[in-house]
Amino acid sequence: MNIMANNLKRMYDQHADEFEAKALEVLRSGWYILGNELRSFENEFAQYIGSKYCVGLASGLDALWIAFRALGIGAGDEVIVSSNSYIACVMGITMNNASPVFVEPDQYGNLDAEKIEEKITDKTKAILAVHLYGQSCDMTKIMELAHKYDLKVVEDCAQSHGTEWKGRKTGTFADIACFSFYPTKNLGAFGDGGAITTDDEGYADAIRTIRNYGSKVHYQNEVVGTNSRLDELQAGLLRVKLKYLDELNAERMALANRYDTEVHNPWITYLPTRPGSNNIYHQYEILSPCRDELIEYLLAKGIHTIIHYPIPPHLSNAYKYLGFVKGDLPIAEKYADTILSLPMYNGMTEEEQTYVIEALNAFRTE
Ligand SMILES: *Cc1c(COP(=O)(O)O)cnc(C)c1O
Repeated sequence: MNIMANNLKRMYDQHADEFEAKALEVLRSGWYILGNELRSFENEFAQYIGSKYCVGLASGLDALWIAFRALGIGAGDEVIVSSNSYIACVMGITMNNASPVFVEPDQYGNLDAEKIEEKITDKTKAILAVHLYGQSCDMTKIMELAHKYDLKVVEDCAQSHGTEWKGRKTGTFADIACFSFYPTKNLGAFGDGGAITTDDEGYADAIRTIRNYGSKVHYQNEVVGTNSRLDELQAGLLRVKLKYLDELNAERMALANRYDTEVHNPWITYLPTRPGSNNIYHQYEILSPCRDELIEYLLAKGIHTIIHYPIPPHLSNAYKYLGFVKGDLPIAEKYADTILSLPMYNGMTEEEQTYVIEALNAFRTE
C-alpha cells in the first residue's frame, strides 16, 4: 500500500460540488480582489474564532510580519519565541529588524512559559506564542507575564484553527493573532492565504491599510504598505471549508485517538497534549530515538512521513548571523532529531491507518 503523509485530494473530493460551485460563482462575478467574498469570510472567521475583527492577508508569514509592524516593533526590540518553531515565526520578527530571543520548548513541543521570565530584558517588547501541532501554549501563564512586564502578545495560530485553551479559542488571547491558510493547514485554501484576528479596532484598521499599499482611499497612501490581500477566490473557497472545519478537526481527533491507543512499540512515544488545551492535530507527532531508521523502514512499506521540523531556526543558514552553534538550544535540537509526523489527513481510511499502525507496531521486531 502507498500512503502519503498528506492527501489533500480526499478532503476536496468530500465537498467537491460545493467548492466547484463557489469557484465558478467567483470566476463569473467579474470581481476578484477586495470584494464581498473577502468581507463575508472575514466576518464569518472572526465570529468562528470569537474575535471582533479579522483581516484577510496573502499568507501566514505576511500576517506575522504585518502584526509586529502594526504593534510598532522594530530595530532594537526583542521578541520572545519558542526555539521549536517554524522558520516563518522567526522571519516575521526579523523582517521588522527586531531580534528573536529563543525560549526552549516543554514536553508538549511548545514554548515553555516557565522559562520566559528569565529571558525578559528592558528591550523585550513582545511574546510570540506559536501553537504548534494543533495544541495551545499555556496562554494563562503567557498573558500573566505580558501584563506583569507590559509586553505585547502575538499568537501564531497557523496550526491551531479551532484549538481551545481552557474552553476559549486560540486567536482570542493576544493583541493580534496570525493565521495561515496554506493548503495543508486544518483550514487550508487552494493556494496561499492568511489572516489576523484582533479585538482592537486600531490594529485591524492599521493592518487593513498596510495590506493595500498603505491606502484606505484609492491612490491616497498614508504609510509605506505592501500588497498582501486574500483574493476573492480563496476567500470564497475558505467560506465553504470553514462550515466543515469542526467536522474536519473532529475527524483528525478520531484518527489521533487510534494512533494514541493502538500504537505499542518501545521505540515510539507520542507527543502528549498539554492539560487545558484540546488538540486539533494539525500533525500527529511521535518521538523516536531511532527516528531516521524508522523513516526508512516505513518508506520501504510505502508509508510516507514528514519531519516538522528537521532544522531548528537558530541552526538554519538564514540565521547563521545570530551566531548560534549546535548545542546552544538542546531541547529544540532534540525535537529536530527525534520528532516525526505520521500520515494524517481528512479522508484517511480505516484500512490505511490500520496498515500504518501495524507497520509501526512491527518496527524492530521483525
Ligand atoms: C504554515 C505556518 C506559517 C506560515 O504560513 P504561510 O502561509 O506558509 O506563510 C507560520 N507559522 C506556522 C506555525 C506555520 O505552521
